[in-house]
Amino acid sequence: MRDELRVKLLEDFPDLYPNRDPSITDYAPFQFECADGWYNIIYRLSYQLASIIANDESLAGKNVKVFQVKEKFGTMRFYMSRYTNEVHEAIAKAQEESAKTCETCGVDGDGVGLKTDGWVRTICEECEVERKGKEEERKRQWLMRRKQTEPAA
Ligand SMILES: [Zn+2]
Repeated sequence: MRDELRVKLLEDFPDLYPNRDPSITDYAPFQFECADGWYNIIYRLSYQLASIIANDESLAGKNVKVFQVKEKFGTMRFYMSRYTNEVHEAIAKAQEESAKTCETCGVDGDGVGLKTDGWVRTICEECEVERKGKEEERKRQWLMRRKQTEPAA
């Protein structure tokens, strides 16, 4: 995730993400290990979690933090230091949403789904075409470079 979005999340939810807690230095600076397309999902979820935590007496003073946010097997994973049923439900919904939202550009709806060629990802058709094009171009350039460095027979 690009830094501008990362910083926005960390600044808007300072109690949720551990980089603002000097006692938990292991997680600083916090990284969102997914592409920009899921930013809105993560933002909405963070907002929801902050409100759940603020209103749940059983979590008062428990210093509930997000441990890790990442992509795994094509969907978003979101790990917390503590869970309640409400926290679980909010995360499960966001994860479901991520399975229908292009991780690259954030578009959702028809044509967005899991694609795999060794690496599973949730991506829309346009981003997949662009990605494949870039891959082809890289291969072509690599072959050209190799040809240039091969000794003449
Ligand atoms: Zn896309």
